[in-house]
This record gives sequence, C-alpha cells and structure tokens, in this order.
Amino acid sequence: PLTKPKDVIEFARAQGVVMVDLKFVDLLGNWQHFSIPITALSEEVFQEGLGFDGSSIRGFQSIDQSDMILIPDPTTAVVDPVCEVPTLSLIGDVYDPVTREPYTRDPRYIARKAEAYLKRSGIADVSYWGPEVEFFIFDSIRFDQGAHYGFYFIDSEEGIWNSGRDEGRPNLGHRPRWKEGYFPVPPADSLQDLRSEIVLRLMQAGIEVETHHHEVATGGQCEIDMRFQTLTRMADQVLMYKYIIKNVARAHGKTATFMPKPLFGDNGSGMHVHQSLWKEGRNLFWDERGYAGLSELARYYIGGILYHTPALLAFCAPTTNSYRRLVPGYEAPVNLVYSRRNRSAGIRIPMYSDSPEAKRIEYRCPDPSANPYLAFAAILMAGLDGIQNRIDPGDPVDVDLYELPPEEARKIKQVPGSLEEALRALERDHEFLLRGGVFTPDVIETWIELKRKEVDAIRLRPHPYEFYLYYSA
Ligand code: GLU
Ligand code: MG
Ligand code: MG
Repeated sequence: PLTKPKDVIEFARAQGVVMVDLKFVDLLGNWQHFSIPITALSEEVFQEGLGFDGSSIRGFQSIDQSDMILIPDPTTAVVDPVCEVPTLSLIGDVYDPVTREPYTRDPRYIARKAEAYLKRSGIADVSYWGPEVEFFIFDSIRFDQGAHYGFYFIDSEEGIWNSGRDEGRPNLGHRPRWKEGYFPVPPADSLQDLRSEIVLRLMQAGIEVETHHHEVATGGQCEIDMRFQTLTRMADQVLMYKYIIKNVARAHGKTATFMPKPLFGDNGSGMHVHQSLWKEGRNLFWDERGYAGLSELARYYIGGILYHTPALLAFCAPTTNSYRRLVPGYEAPVNLVYSRRNRSAGIRIPMYSDSPEAKRIEYRCPDPSANPYLAFAAILMAGLDGIQNRIDPGDPVDVDLYELPPEEARKIKQVPGSLEEALRALERDHEFLLRGGVFTPDVIETWIELKRKEVDAIRLRPHPYEFYLYYSA
C-alpha cells in the first residue's frame, strides 16, 4: 500500500482518476461516504481532513454537536472497483473538530486501539485475521405488505420460497438439492461467473483471495476467502468485500445479503474468524507437543474467548436474526467448547496443515451481520484476558455430543439463545473490553441502546407465522 499523501495524489493522476470517494464506517458497521473532485485533493486534506455532519449517522453524534472531521488514511488508497466514473477510494478516520482527537465512537479507532493495546501488553506484536464471510445471492426480494408485517418471499433462481408459497412457480431446474449446495459444478452452481467477477474486483482493490465456492445452502449461498491480514486492515477489507459483492450482484439484476439466516430450514451464513498471535516473527499459537499443535498461550486465549462468548456475541452475532442461525443441525456452533473436529464447537482447530505458520484457531460463532472492527477488537480483548488471567478452557470435546452421557452433555455451556440474552451478558461482562481504553463505557451503552431497539422491533410485532399457528385456533 501507498503510505505518503504525495504518492496517493500521484497514483490518482497516473490512474486518470477524476473523483475521490471518502468512506468511513458507522457504529453498526456500514460504510458511509461522500465525494470530492480530484482537484480538491491536496496533501493538506490528509492532515486537516474534511468536515461532514455526523448527526444523521446512526450511532454517532447528536444534533447539538454534529460537526465531524474525516481524515483519509493514505494506505487505503485504491481505484474504486465499483464506480464507473474513475474514482479514487479512501477510507478515513473520524475526528472531533474541537479536540482534534480521534472520535471515540469510530469503530476503526476502536480496532486501531485494540492493535495498539496488544503491542503494549508485550504478549505479541501483531495479530492475524482470516474471516470466512458467507452470503446469499438472490434474484430479488419482494415485500408484499411492506416491512411492517414482514410478509416477504425470496425469489431465487434456485427456487427457494421463504414463505412456503411456491405454488404455481416454475421449476427452474438444475438447482442444488437441499443442503447439497457444497459444491457441484455448474449448472447446479449458477453463480460461478458471478463469484469470479467479484474475485477479480477484490483483486483490483488490492485484496488477496484464496478460494471461492458455492456453500451448503440451496438458495445461492456463496463464500469467498481472503488471505489473512492484520486486524484493522482486515476489517477494512471485509467492508470492501461486502461493497463489491452487493454492487456486482446488483449490476447483474440480483441482490446479495449478509443477514445470517435468510432461509428457514437451510444453512445460515457464518463469519468464522481464523486468528493467531505473532511475536518477533514467530506464531505464538503453535507448539507441537500441545493438543492439535496448540501452545499453552493459545489454550488460554481460547479460554478467554469461550468464557466471554455470551457478552462477545453482542458484537459478533449482533442481530435478532443471528440467533436463528445459532441452532443445532446447520453447521453453526452451539457448544462453548473447542475441538479439532466438532463443527458444533464454538472454536475449531483447523488441521489442514501441520506447519507452525498455519496454526490458528477458528472462532465459529460470529456472523457477517457483525461490524468487523468491533467484533475483531472484542474477540482479541477476550483472548488477551484469557492469557492474562490464565482462563482454562478445559478439555477439548472431540466426541459427538450426542454420544456423551446426559450428565456430561448438560455440563457443556451453550451460546445465548437471543440477542437480548447477549446484550444482558454484555451489560454484566464488559470490563475486559474497557482495558487500555479500547472500548469506552459510552460505546458499550450506545451499542446496547441501539440493539435493544432492534430487539423490541421484532419482539413487539406479531410474526406472520403466528397467524398460521393461532389465528383460527
Ligand atoms: N454456514 C455454516 C455456519 O453458519 C458454516 C459452514 C462451514 O463450515 O463452512 O457457520
Ligand atoms: Mg463456509
Ligand atoms: Mg470455516
């Protein structure tokens, strides 16, 4: 990546760019943006920033203190892979114009603070992150009665009807059989070229891609895997990933979604997060004598994550829909244990390679509705708490949980059953997030307040299926 403002401006000229798009992430994890003509981009902009009104951004300032500054990060400069008018894309950090300090509710600042805290702790110099972000591509989504009652059905080339009303619909043929989307060749996989196009654009945006494939769910579920990166940079990449996917889908008259469980009765979309800690070029998670090649430090890191998972999920599985995914039977994790084998375990230890560099843990609970900056920062803080306080994760559970005697099985803790439960856990358990000023009490409170509104929006509305169950009963 480019590091100096001067080089960014030169790069933009050489690429024939005429517009500059400045992006930043809101508290919930969506990109917001505004643009300036290339003639307005000077080295000074990288020092002084550009003003914008932060009052209408969800989770940001109230109206009385709405002025904010955006300072673009030169290392994020790429030619925007989506815009047709040649446009330079820059991700920015949000600053308070009065104090000239970074804005404490800017998720990117929280991610940068988490990385700095890791270094300061002396435990490691750097952490690496490899999320597997799953998603669905549908032909269209229609709201019959508006969002109020939520009567909707999903129109998919592969023929899935969420409302169950598929009478009279054409059988489009060549659809993957139920739960057999992973992974026959085209024409059963009708999204091959679309994914390839997405991958090419990811590469244009400087993102290294390892693989792409159809996923298990029948209705057009996909996965594209990026090569691991440092924390903040990977969170930047996840947002670029979503941006490219949604835009390429749209250009093809389709729609992409990262909601964790769009289809009843089929697999949901997870965001398994692979991670490792490194010091002086050495992977601290590796020890050939340990279980599954894991060091003692890695075990404590796992202990911290499993211990804090109920609270962590307020950031890692932060929607009401997330808890429709975290149920048995769909490869989503439900048990707060670790294992080299079990896909129902919250943490899996991949065994694809026995090289020390490849040793990592895979935290399976998060889903792609998470704000990646907050989720990765929170996971790191939980893992570090595990190391600092030697939180023992107990023994791995490699056996099928159904094979355990009931009294053993009952001892195994499970993921929270609802967003409300996760929010309550976060209320009780967030001291570990406040260390080093990484998360502030204000961010935790604001988050809980915003998310409770979502909980109520769903809790207070009669569900369409309740009419089936109760209307004539
Ligand atoms: N879609 C599954 C989930 O919700 C994961 C499938 C896989 O193991 O890749 O986590
Ligand atoms: Mg997958
Ligand atoms: Mg995985």
